[in-house]
Amino acid sequence: MAKEAVIGIDLGTTNSEVAVYQQGRVTVIPDAEGRKILPSFVGVTAEGTLLVGEEARNQYIVFPERTVRSIKRRMGETEPVSMAGQNYLPQEISAIILKRLKATAEAYLGQPVQKAVITVPAYFSDAQRQATREAGEIAGLDVLRMINEPTAAALVYEAGKQEGKKILVYDLGGGTFDVSVVRIEQGVVEVISSHGDNHLGGDDFDEKIVEHLLAQLQESHGVDAATDPRALARLRRAAEAAKRVLSDHPYARIDEEYLQEVQGKPIHLSVELSRIDYEEMITPFIDRTLEAVHIALRGAQLTTSAVESILLVGGATRTPLVVRRLEEIFGVRPRGEVDPDLCVAMGAAIQAASVQGEEVSAVLVDITPYTFGVSAVGQLNGMTSSDLFVPVIHKNSAIPTHKSEVFYTMMEDQPEVEVRIFQGENKDARKNRLIGEFMVEGLSRAPANSPVVLRMDLDADGLLHVSATEKKSGLSKRITIGDALRHLDAAEMAGARTRLDHLFGENDDGAGGAGARPAGGHQEEVMARALLEKAERMLEQAAEADQEEMINLIEDIRQALTDGDQDALAEPCEALSEILFYLET
Ligand code: AMP
Repeated sequence: MAKEAVIGIDLGTTNSEVAVYQQGRVTVIPDAEGRKILPSFVGVTAEGTLLVGEEARNQYIVFPERTVRSIKRRMGETEPVSMAGQNYLPQEISAIILKRLKATAEAYLGQPVQKAVITVPAYFSDAQRQATREAGEIAGLDVLRMINEPTAAALVYEAGKQEGKKILVYDLGGGTFDVSVVRIEQGVVEVISSHGDNHLGGDDFDEKIVEHLLAQLQESHGVDAATDPRALARLRRAAEAAKRVLSDHPYARIDEEYLQEVQGKPIHLSVELSRIDYEEMITPFIDRTLEAVHIALRGAQLTTSAVESILLVGGATRTPLVVRRLEEIFGVRPRGEVDPDLCVAMGAAIQAASVQGEEVSAVLVDITPYTFGVSAVGQLNGMTSSDLFVPVIHKNSAIPTHKSEVFYTMMEDQPEVEVRIFQGENKDARKNRLIGEFMVEGLSRAPANSPVVLRMDLDADGLLHVSATEKKSGLSKRITIGDALRHLDAAEMAGARTRLDHLFGENDDGAGGAGARPAGGHQEEVMARALLEKAERMLEQAAEADQEEMINLIEDIRQALTDGDQDALAEPCEALSEILFYLET
């Protein structure tokens, strides 16, 4: 008989998910149609059939009186909600969602499931938590634990990792925003403070785009589409789709044919929205989230510099402006490589496994260990330079991934642009690794500042496809770089091989003999790696105060190695050697 499964459930305001930890891996469980996300909608059809998820959401548009959405906002209240003329307690509606997730898990696992860990927002009161527990029981689940959503996210990224670490969890969903400061102490994740806004999220971004589209329609066709519910619904869908495109691309096209008919004449909508304009629209919302971030920090009595890691949760954190603004404030790049829609359910599954006594570790995802970008003209060390490195795909992005950025021509009638592609982290492109270059020739005779869109696609095999397209004419050129994830290029590999051959003696098979010693410019790196290995071995026997210092130095050395920055290696290596020496003697 298989070991009893304990499932982890993220019971969300707009969407819910269920996950399980098996043989060292977390799986978000798909339903029979392969869908991992269950919209948190419940409904009853005219015939009395119960609808849950997508079907209920579809019904909501046409029969809102027979459908319930966002029940999470009502948890803990005693007032019943009405669905198709019948009254239900909020617990009962939530229980319907939980029961569906339980059934999905049972079908997937091929065994009955009776136990679960369910997540709740950090700000939930006792009454709201109690109502959630009751919902679980009504659904036939023994709720072993209820954990805070930011705690779940922290477990996904940090389970079994460093102690005493302070982490900020920024959770921006469709209609709610929460920010929490959490700390990991003796393997326990603790929420120190949290703040949020119950009515702020990605849906507000959609509304801004809709307002913009309505204004466009008014201006170009003199119509008020807001008075036509069907047209408005189409605009909302188009706006949401455009918003997603703008997360990865500098422009989005919105084409809605036959949106309306006004006095027998069809109205077509065709507009292009640039990321720059969109970001201006949503800046006030992002500012509000950042105010909440500062309140949460004050609540935890922390300054921005004390936060070691920022974790992104919720679909709307895919918005580049969110990432950029957080990076500006904290000076570290927020982490979002685990799917921000699924992260909380995955954390619940990790907690479920550890309740069962399993040793669990953080979730592993395929990520790129390097940043890829191009050189451009800009300010470098206070001077204008054509070697400014502009990242396009950031280090730690989950792969496969694709991103586009817009660049502008410098001169009037510029006939060509040169694209130089680099791998690395240095602001000065020349200090990064040049991995490819090409020219786009025959540009239209356009004024300066004409946009050229650069697109990068990195696949799981390490192939990097790069294209540059003149926006005005569509003129495009592309190249593919093989093995983009390799750190050393072919010439360096050959060089390294030759050096080794030389060290071992031309005919030596490397099994022994000549005493190999690292040579050349890599010596510092080799020494540093050896030092790291030793320090890690000795970490446990060090006193607590030393441990902290050692960990900081280890991180500095790792960073310098990742950046290939020889200059930054010397100091932490020396300091670490000193501690090791003192520990040994
Ligand atoms: P959640 O409530 O966490 O499922 O988040 C849903 C919100 O994330 C909705 O407003 C979605 O439109 C938004 N969202 C999903 N994918 C993206 C994306 N690629 N870029 C921007 N927003 C997104």
